Amino acid sequence: MIEIAHYVNGAFVAGTSGRNQKVFNPATGTSEKTVALASVAEVDAAVAAAKAAWPAWSKTPPLRRARILDRFKNILWERSEQMAEAISAEHGKTHDDALGEVTRGLEVVEFAIGAPSFLKGEFCENVGSDVDSHMVRQSLGVCAGITPFNFPAMVPMWMWPVALATGNTFVLKPSERDPSVSLMMAEWLAEAGLPAGVFNVVQGDKVAVDALLEHPDVKAISFVGSTPIAQYIYQTGTANGKRVQALGGAKNHMIIMPDADLDMAASALMGAGYGSAGERCMAISVAVPVTDAVADALIEKLIPQIQALKVGPAADRTSEMGPLVTAQHLDKVRGYIDSGEAQGAKVVVDGRDFKQTRQGYENGYFIGGTLLDNVTEDMTCYKDEIFGPVVSVVRKGSYQEAVDLIHGHPYANGTAVFTRDGDVARNFSQDIEVGMVGINVPIPVPMAFNSFGGWKASIFGDHHMHGMEGVRFYTRIKTTTTRWPTGQRSDPEFTMPTLG
Ligand code: NAD
Repeated sequence: MIEIAHYVNGAFVAGTSGRNQKVFNPATGTSEKTVALASVAEVDAAVAAAKAAWPAWSKTPPLRRARILDRFKNILWERSEQMAEAISAEHGKTHDDALGEVTRGLEVVEFAIGAPSFLKGEFCENVGSDVDSHMVRQSLGVCAGITPFNFPAMVPMWMWPVALATGNTFVLKPSERDPSVSLMMAEWLAEAGLPAGVFNVVQGDKVAVDALLEHPDVKAISFVGSTPIAQYIYQTGTANGKRVQALGGAKNHMIIMPDADLDMAASALMGAGYGSAGERCMAISVAVPVTDAVADALIEKLIPQIQALKVGPAADRTSEMGPLVTAQHLDKVRGYIDSGEAQGAKVVVDGRDFKQTRQGYENGYFIGGTLLDNVTEDMTCYKDEIFGPVVSVVRKGSYQEAVDLIHGHPYANGTAVFTRDGDVARNFSQDIEVGMVGINVPIPVPMAFNSFGGWKASIFGDHHMHGMEGVRFYTRIKTTTTRWPTGQRSDPEFTMPTLG
């Protein structure tokens, strides 16, 4: 068994807590690795390294910091295949999907390289007689990132490139289910010239997370994961005086209007519902066709495509959908299909009994694509985030009923409408209470220079990830008011200064 280590102060550090956890290859169902689970003392060591590195790093000229990130970006371009393979080996997603994830993460590094521009301050001349003021953005200190299993490369890269570029140091606590990629990032950053201690990794579970939440030297926490944990992170982190941005779970609806291009909508739904086995926070898990006629026609187009899905390991480059991440998650997803059926949904395509016949992959955590029809708001399979390749069809009679359905759900991460009607599209974009909206675009993930985040129970905190929101989250404003005496002295003033 290989043990996946921590990375502290520029070096790999073996776990000393005596606790570890198996890391599985979801495509084979086998495990040849464990991951160390950090103790409080191990988290303390990582935070201490980051704290010690901060004074020099925060004073390093922004352009010099950006050049290190630029070198990292070039290394990542060259080795993106290697990182994609590492992602697939622990997450299970297909090779091309893993490559796409690396690229979306790399785009945030490209954005962060522009940090010298974002850190430019403001200067105001003569705010009073012979008095000037200037405002700058300064780093916070040690920032921590706690990330989910479903994007082991991209989600950490939503965080640390912006944090580092703006002068902070960082401690990453990746998901214990696919931890290896975090060490690749650490190693390649060092190769790019990052000083020791600026970027650290602690592997672990709740013990490590709680130690970060309670540590007085951690100034900010970025979290992405499920809603109950996001809420816990937000409440505990803010109660301990930290800045927190905590992104949670999702249940993304796609409205299909009668005037939509139905072939386009069906194809979009295939990618958005079944890509990455539905383990994406921007996956479309609810299709809302407006009118029964649209629902029937859509389902007719979907059935053969779902049945033809190529479900297989990343090693087969033609696979369109990989396995689920763990055996427990496979059981959970099957359970949601069972409960939907028991509560009255119609299982139109049933992926529960899918068997992987490729030699060596028979015990992988595979499931087929599933389509449920006649799903209603009261069913568990509608209320909960399933996080698997299961699309629920909720039929509605009008656009307004479809919008009301979306507004009735507590999650509000992403949504989409498929229509040819500009009026409907504009109203939807303007009025829908969801953070990320697609018009004939099923997965409207904002680019690195924009910011990513949902609304309602899909986020806790005020700042979305990356783009200028990321810069604001990882910096604090300082305003200095300056007067240079010219020899003329005035008497003390005891009233509020105003410009009369
Ligand atoms: P998770 O909430 O189980 O885990 C996320 C992180 O929290 C991990 O690092 C984990 O170690 C830690 N954690 C888990 N339980 C904890 C506890 N009790 N106390 C403290 N820390 C704990 O999420 P996951 O299963 O890894 O990821 C899937 C979830 O993430 C889905 O709900 C998905 O929608 C969500 N997600 C959201 C976004 C977004 O941008 N909104 C993006 C990706 C994933």
